[in-house]
Amino acid sequence: MVATRKLVTVIPGDGVGPECVRSAQQLVQAAGARIEWEERAAGASVFKQGIASGVPPETIESVSKTRCVLKGPLETPVGFGEKSANVTLRKLFETYGNIRPVRELPGVVTPYSGRGIDLVVVRENVEDLYAGIEHMQTPGVAQCLKLISRKGCEKIVRLAFELAVAEGRKRVHCATKSNIMKLTEGLLKRTFEQIAPEYPGIEAQHIIIDNCAHQLVKKPEQFDVIVTTNMNGDIISDLTSALVGGLGFAPSANVGNEVAIFEAVHGSAPKYAGKNVINPTAVILSAVLMLRHLGEFEAAGKIENAVLVTLEQGKVLTGDVVGYDRGVSTSAFTEAVLANLGRTSQRWRVREYRPIKLPTSDPAPDTVKPHSRRVVGVDVFIESALTPDALGKSLEEIAQDCPVRLKMISNRGTKVYPSVGAITDCVDHWRCRFVLRPNVPELSETHLGWLLHQIGLKHTWMHVEKLPEFDGAAGFTKAQGED
Ligand code: NAP
Repeated sequence: MVATRKLVTVIPGDGVGPECVRSAQQLVQAAGARIEWEERAAGASVFKQGIASGVPPETIESVSKTRCVLKGPLETPVGFGEKSANVTLRKLFETYGNIRPVRELPGVVTPYSGRGIDLVVVRENVEDLYAGIEHMQTPGVAQCLKLISRKGCEKIVRLAFELAVAEGRKRVHCATKSNIMKLTEGLLKRTFEQIAPEYPGIEAQHIIIDNCAHQLVKKPEQFDVIVTTNMNGDIISDLTSALVGGLGFAPSANVGNEVAIFEAVHGSAPKYAGKNVINPTAVILSAVLMLRHLGEFEAAGKIENAVLVTLEQGKVLTGDVVGYDRGVSTSAFTEAVLANLGRTSQRWRVREYRPIKLPTSDPAPDTVKPHSRRVVGVDVFIESALTPDALGKSLEEIAQDCPVRLKMISNRGTKVYPSVGAITDCVDHWRCRFVLRPNVPELSETHLGWLLHQIGLKHTWMHVEKLPEFDGAAGFTKAQGED
């Protein structure tokens, strides 16, 4: 019986993408994996056609069908205009987990060689600042919303523990900035602490992200699996790849319950595009992750071993390892790996892998139901050229007949009214916090509407945040200097 071939969408990508992806495809075929490719476009060429998302309908249709993608890097316009096509692809297909393994490799000499680095960064992939919800609050003040959901935290934490189980790993660190962002980053920490007891065989530890960066440089071998939020994970996974030789060696998998996208951590490295000098290992190892995801364990092990043997032999290395004046071409390196297919590294063990049990979650919107809730005030954000004192007096006067009173005004998070004697360099963007007067049970919609209307008659407000209490706990944080 002829085994069925699995269809995979291949996106060659921009810059060095096509060179690296070609190498990976050659190896996948030569290793005997039962894969068929469907090539589609995304990124720069698509932006040029005027498609602002960078991802055309044919690509979306292909990914929806194949549910598996091998992708080269895509260029992202910086700071204006179009969205990142990478982030669009990850978010359209809810690939919520970004798995970035980093392992010391033979023949790739770094200051860390011999220390046995073998870790995986599991980065939340669709939430956080990468939700990309940004607004100019005033002509001179920009804001980006950092959205973290309980459902998102639960999925990424479970994925990290399940990956540890599948790969026989012993420890999971959760790295957050919960000491500062108690509600957003704190939600990941709290979720981690709730879920960890379900995995008694795995050591669970929280670490503050800045110390994690410090420890990764100082003693990286202490880490096994690190689970973290999107932005933290983006940064520390570039750091971890540098520990083992750089971005040329860093593969990644974007996984979700429906679709998985495999790609290098690196970008399109435009200065090397078309020169046939780039290191294709990161994309090759991403294809190895893809093969394991598709259950093609034998072909995956064959390619990983061939890469290890090639590096171990140390004869055919690319410019990022030995300098671009001495390095071999991308195609020569690929030929060497192809020639080593079937050989097994004697010194470097390929880890035993089992399929990861992906956490399942209800596709319906997650609704967390507290026993009690009430609105205990409101933050009104106002654009004003007044001094804090003048603005404060004006708002106190406006609210004098309202069930809420002005408690304080802050500027970029620091209380400036009533003055605490701080030296704050103010901008024209003020958070004005109104709280319930004594014996008022809750701020009603009617009173909120009235207050906003009155403020709007004298000032320019640009956004409003209700101050909720869930089960008696404040669902908002205090300003610096607020009692
Ligand atoms: P980059 O493309 O990752 O390149 C940064 C540097 O990393 C290169 O100059 C090179 O270092 C090294 N490098 C990257 N890939 C390598 C490889 N395969 N072999 C050897 N060295 C490699 O980052 P960037 O220049 O910041 O970004 C360029 C574009 O890619 C941007 O448009 C960005 O948005 C996009 N990007 C896409 C993705 C993605 O598709 N997932 C990810 C990141 C960035 P040396 O200069 O030291 O030789």
